[in-house]
Amino acid sequence: MISIDLLQKGEAIHGSSVEKEILDYLANLFQGSKKLPVNTMEWNITYEKLYINGKEVPCRAMPYTRGHVSGKVGDNILAFPFPDHPFKVKDFFKYSLSVNAEGIIFYGDKLRRVKVSEDIVKVPTVTTTSTLKKGDEVEIHVDSWLRNTTSYNVEYTVNEGEESIVIGAHVDHWLTGFHDNLLALDVINGLKGLKLNRKGLKFVFFSSEEGPKCCTGSSQYPKKGIFASIILDALYPNRVVYSSTPDLWQFANYFRLKRIEMPTRYSDDVSFVEENIPSLTLYNDDLIPFYHSDRDLQMPEDLSYIEELKLALIKMLKALDNVKREELDERLKSFGFSKRELGS
Ligand SMILES: [Zn+2]
Repeated sequence: MISIDLLQKGEAIHGSSVEKEILDYLANLFQGSKKLPVNTMEWNITYEKLYINGKEVPCRAMPYTRGHVSGKVGDNILAFPFPDHPFKVKDFFKYSLSVNAEGIIFYGDKLRRVKVSEDIVKVPTVTTTSTLKKGDEVEIHVDSWLRNTTSYNVEYTVNEGEESIVIGAHVDHWLTGFHDNLLALDVINGLKGLKLNRKGLKFVFFSSEEGPKCCTGSSQYPKKGIFASIILDALYPNRVVYSSTPDLWQFANYFRLKRIEMPTRYSDDVSFVEENIPSLTLYNDDLIPFYHSDRDLQMPEDLSYIEELKLALIKMLKALDNVKREELDERLKSFGFSKRELGS
């Protein structure tokens, strides 16, 4: 399996050499694919260390923080249990900056990396699996830098057509990233034998979804001639959140659904939706407890889930192949929309 092969390469931070190795692997696997350059940034961590009461404990630095500090929890250092939703980390981070914390620690049962800023912030912020209490003596050391670099999106044309359907997935990932987003690569590989009769079909592997801004790779992918995009991101057995422009809602019943919703601002569909292209992202927020952690790893249910998604996508693609843009425009209007837009 591609996902298990690539898991061995370790963390693939956007713009890094590991990300490029993964893209090379895919370009090799999908012979004849094109590499489309992407201007991105690499975040490189040279050093991440945490000492609690003189003892070194495992930690991971939060993107994109750096700096060196020593002090006491509840004094110049603030420590929080990792919140129940990773998106809330930012709120604790902002609060800590507002009260001039010099170092920030999130503790829980996993090591995690959750972006707290789009630029370097010189307040070292880490996650750890050691519980902290008020008065603990702490030292945090993080050296990291962001630099401009070039990476690329890999585009493989399964069959040509006047207009094409894109199936896309990002390859960069924080920590183990098995479900976010290596598993998607096996789902896409399962569609290799498919040929559409009317429309073109392209597989696109995106660079730099995770940063420095959301969806850096896909936002630079040329959208001309794209009929629709289907993005696979953070899939997790055994259901999907069907996040799409309303004109694609009628295909949702091919999938085992958690819910149907409007497109979000957090995945590679953003730039497609902004260009008024019918777009679907499949994900599953049941992944939340493992999201961006060192424990997002393979599990027995993955195999049947990949197979189920593959069959559902084949049905959807065959149906979509027979649909005209005017029909989708009409469907969109029937829900009261004049153009395709992101949800709130
Ligand atoms: Zn993702």
